[in-house]
Parts: sequence; C-alpha cells; structure tokens
Amino acid sequence: MPRLPSRTRLAVAGVALAAAVAGAALWRSRSLQSVAPGAFAGRNLLFVTIDTLRPDRLGSYGSKAGLTPHLDRLASEGVRFEHALAHVPLTLPAHTSIFTSLHPTEHGVHDNGTFRVRASLPTLATTLQGAGYQTGAFVGSFVLDARFGLNRGFDVYDDFYGEKRGVLSFAQLERRADAIVASAERWIGEARAPWFAWVHLFDPHAPYRPPPELARKFPNDLYGAEVAFVDATLGELLDKLSTSGRLRETIVVVLGDHGESLGEHGERTHGTFAYESTLRVPWILWADGLRPQVFSETVRHVDVMPTLLDLMSLPLPAPIAGQSLRPYLTGELRYEAPASYFEALNPHLTRDWAPLTGVVHEGHKLIRLPTPELYDLALDPMEKENLYRQKTGLARRLTETLDGISAGADAVAAAPPDRETLEKLRALGYLTAPVESRKGEYDETDDPKSLIDVANAYDEATELFGEGRVEEAVAIFEDIVRRQPRSSEAHQSLAYALHQTGRVAEAVALLEDAVRRGLSDTALLGLLSAYLLDVGELEKAVGILEALVQREPDYAEGHNYLGIAYGRLGRFADARRELERVLELDPSSASAYNNLGSLALSQGKLDEAVSHLNRALAIDPADSTALNGLGFAHARAGDMPKAIDYWRRAVESDPQQFDALFNLALALADASPREAVPYLDRFAREAPPQRYGADIERAKAMLRTFGS
Ligand SMILES: [Zn+2]
Repeated sequence: MPRLPSRTRLAVAGVALAAAVAGAALWRSRSLQSVAPGAFAGRNLLFVTIDTLRPDRLGSYGSKAGLTPHLDRLASEGVRFEHALAHVPLTLPAHTSIFTSLHPTEHGVHDNGTFRVRASLPTLATTLQGAGYQTGAFVGSFVLDARFGLNRGFDVYDDFYGEKRGVLSFAQLERRADAIVASAERWIGEARAPWFAWVHLFDPHAPYRPPPELARKFPNDLYGAEVAFVDATLGELLDKLSTSGRLRETIVVVLGDHGESLGEHGERTHGTFAYESTLRVPWILWADGLRPQVFSETVRHVDVMPTLLDLMSLPLPAPIAGQSLRPYLTGELRYEAPASYFEALNPHLTRDWAPLTGVVHEGHKLIRLPTPELYDLALDPMEKENLYRQKTGLARRLTETLDGISAGADAVAAAPPDRETLEKLRALGYLTAPVESRKGEYDETDDPKSLIDVANAYDEATELFGEGRVEEAVAIFEDIVRRQPRSSEAHQSLAYALHQTGRVAEAVALLEDAVRRGLSDTALLGLLSAYLLDVGELEKAVGILEALVQREPDYAEGHNYLGIAYGRLGRFADARRELERVLELDPSSASAYNNLGSLALSQGKLDEAVSHLNRALAIDPADSTALNGLGFAHARAGDMPKAIDYWRRAVESDPQQFDALFNLALALADASPREAVPYLDRFAREAPPQRYGADIERAKAMLRTFGS
C-alpha cells in the first residue's frame, strides 16, 4: 500500500524534476517513499554478473527470441538500465571496476591474467563484510580466480572449477551455471542475514556450447542458447528465494561484465575493440518496494557500487569514481550523464598494438587510436559513420575530457622491463644487447582496425586446437609470430601449442629466442620457466623465477614454479616457503597443496604428504595429481591395496595421468601379472615417448615376459 509522500519531499521533487516528462508524477510520488535513504538498509544482496552478455539477447532489451523469460520478469518488476556501459571489455578489469567503483586508470587492472587487484583497495565485498554481512562468491571462470585478488572481503570464495592451470591454456577453465548456482544456493540456505552473494556465470563466453536441449531449441543462435541456459538456471534460484520468502528481503542485481561482437565491426568475440557490441551491458536492479522503471540515460559500471551502498544506507569508501543513482531513480535530482571512460588495452599489452582508450559523453563516443573515431550514439548506434573529421569541436572537447580522466594515472606497461630483471636475464645468457621490444610510437599499421584479421586468427587457431586440429592451429600461430615479432601473446600461443603436442624443446627454443629479442613480460617469462622445469633446466628456471617474483611479489604462479624448482634441487625449506606464499595469494590452489604433498613425499614425511594431498582433493575431488600422490604415499607406507585403489581412481579421473597408470601397472604386476597386462599395454601405446621413453621400454619388456 503506497503511503502519501510528505509535502516537503514533493516540493523538492517538483523543483528538481521541472523538465521531466509529464505523466510520471504518480510513480514519482510513490517512489519517493519507497526509495528514501535507508529504505533498504539491512537487506541481503544477490549480485549476479553474467559474462559476455549482450543486451539484445534479453526480451526486456528488445529480443523477440524468447530466451530470457525470468530476467525479463525481473526487469519488468525492477529498474532496467537501458544504456549501461563497461569500462573494459574484459572480465577481470570489468569486475574490478564494478567492485571498486574505480576506472582501470585508478585501480590499475588493465588485463586478465597478469594483473592483481591491489590489497589496499576497498571493494563492495570488504565494505559489506565490514558492515557485518556474511559474504560468499561463486565464480565460473579461472579469469576471476582468487589469485587475482577479488577474493578479499569474501568469507567464502568458491572458485573450484577443477585443477587450475596458471600457464596459458586454450581450454577456458569454466564451470557451468547450474553447478555455480547450486553452490550459491547451498551457501545462501545456511547464511545468516544480512548476506551478500556474488554469483558469476560464465556460460555465454566463447566457445558457445549450450546444453543439447537448448542447442536444439535455438540451433541458429548457440550464443543465445547459452544465455537462455543462464536465464533458466537463475529463474530456478529466484523462484526458490521467492517461495521461501527470502526474495523480499533481498536486493537483486543482474549485470553484464561486457558484451560480445559476434562479427560486428569484423570482431569475433571481445577485447580488441570498444564498440557498443562489447561495451554496452544489461543492468537490472530489483528490490521489493523499488519503483519499476526504465532508466534510459547512460550509466556506468562504476555507478553500481555507490548506488547499492546508498540504497543499503552504508557509507561509501573513498575515493570512488562513480556516483549513486538513487536520487535520480527517485527523481530527487535531475540526471546529467557523466563521461564514461573506456579502454581495450589487451592487444597493446600483449601484442604491442596501438593502445585504445576513449570516452562516451554528450551522446557521442570518442575512440583514441592512430585513426581516431567519433560516433553519434543516438543517430548511429551501430557506429558506422566516423564523424571525427566533421565534428572537430566536439572531438576536441571529448579528447580533453579523456585526458582529464586519464591524468595522473600510472602509465600502463606490460611488465616493465626493469633493470634488475634484464641484468638477471643477461646473466643467464639471454640478452646479448639491450633490445627495445616495444614500439612506443604507433601509426595506422598498429591500429587494431588494421589488425583485426590477426585477432580473429587467434580465435580461429584456438578453436582448431580445441577440435584437435593441432597442425592447422600451429601453422596459424607460426604465421602470426612471423607477422608480429613483437607480440608476446603470439609467441606464448605458439609455444603452448608446440608444448601440448610434445614438441617441448621447440617451445623452449621459441620462447628463449623471444627473450633474446627483448620480450620480458611476466606471462612469457612464466611460461618459459614452466617449460624449462619440464626439460629439467632447473638452475635456469630458478634464475628467471627469482627475478620474476622479486619484480612481482604477488605473482602466484611464479612462486609455485619456484617452489617446484627448489624442491627438485633439494632446497626443501626454500620450496616450502614459496609454496606457502602461493597459498597466501590463492588459498584454494590445489596445485600448491599437491606440490607441498610431493615435497613432503620426497622428504619421506608420509603423514604430512597425505594431509596436503587430501587438501588438494577436497578442493578438487577429481584431481588426478593428488590421487596419484596419495597412491604413492600409501604404497610407501606399505598399504598396497589402498595405493592401487587411489591409482585406479586417478586413471579413471584422467586417462592422461600416465604416472598413475604406470604405477598401477607395476603394482598389479607384483601380485597378478594377468591383471597388469591391459594397463601395461595401454601405457606402452599411449604414453608420450618424449617423457616416458625408458618406462615405455620397461613396460614392453614386462609384456614380453608375461606373454611367454
Ligand atoms: Zn567477461
């Protein structure tokens, strides 16, 4: 039942809204009551981010395909922001802006994978935790792994999606929406109010592989089918919360982190350009008592946190870049869309292409590149007509605005080639002369618009690799390396493809050559170190890694590799220190527990090993490395039946777990050669000879003996 608004409030609203459209008065007067400051204090917060979500797949944003009935209902009962913008079309930087209300120029996270959110930055999670909320995060992709720093402020950070690989991998490590929502639902069921649950659903991200029934239902739009799956999954959660009466006590946010190009402007996925296809995102805000409305002005990711904290009557951390939209939703203040900064720097950081930055303001978008662009977003939402040379005054104003936002920001650099690291690399024989690996000055040939075919070639090669068409993928990567000798990413991709197909020495040689020519960013050096460990070049790996973690003390993967290297060199105390550092940075690193376990095994500390390996197994019950290690520990302790059981589980969980396969075959051979034969046979046929040459010979010899 709407209560009558107080007179003073009405008067204030009347003044502020003088220019607003007629006919909104009734809603407005009611809304003043329902969205007064403090109206939602103490409510729970269900915060859903959907990865790679284009507004045009939602019915509430105009789709006719019927993909999103649940989100549409939520939108019709809540606030739907028609023109919400991301600041970066990439997952980790976008989420960092959402949760800190800072631009990437301020929070410093410009790319996935190699940046970590600074521990000094307050986030929505730290703020709500500080206000007494129980906090839980349920994330769907490795890109948001705890090691990248968004885990601060969460009592529970569920990023368990199987074994984590820190090195470059083409396989997107992800968990399906239903698994994440189930985990979130369990936590919500036990949480005491007020709680804050962040649910991150990664499904619409490429590759588009929806569940079969949805693929059949929407055969011409597999991307849309993934969106439909996410909608159905969320619908169940919302229904359950509604049935149990908890929805009324909960503010619900559904927000895209960035969009997807789907071929627009020649871009296949996202991250290279910053057109509306990847910057514009859906944003739905729902709360019982909040007036349903469509807010059509431009709003930004940085506005999300201040709006929520304002609604919940909690103080804002300072400084922030966004503003609360509450007074505009109530009509207390008249909205004037502020400038919205954006950037897409991944190609600059990883391939040395021209940096892309820009700003949306005054209804227009300015993109700063060697060939600059200016679009009228109202008249030309598809951004087809570049007005940069026509609207020179506006272009100048927006350039000044962009300069103003970027002013004072730290220069964005791909792992600065600091003197110490270079010295260390030189000492290791990598640098014969100082080389400038980055161009620094960029022209039209470095403009992403001229290079989009290269960006698409990466996507294509990645897809081919995923389909097992390895040689075709390698050929494409080789071509990219030839065309882009300054691209760290090209070298890493090719090296990874070579390594995965057993050409480990070639992978090492390729990366070493890149380092000699001056590439020294963290991701490339990290990958080289990992492969040096593979080929047994321990001292060399240690040399690089020590320099790396000195330069970047929060680089979890570097500490992990260093721990492995020290362990193999018998420097157990050093190894342990490094691996414990990994767990400080990433408490759910199954890999670190596995390595601590194998370290304990190599020192003969069986109980300690079993304890570490069980921790790894608790994080990932299918972790075949942990299962193999547990088999080994029990064999050492003389409990062969138990050892055999673990090795069987390891092989079932991962047919490529050849260490366990060989261990299992040997153990069985002792008791019953006949049982061992099929395992020996499989090992001899399938294990990669580069790594298991001697073991394969031994298996063959045993097979001959058993055969006779
Ligand atoms: Zn994303």
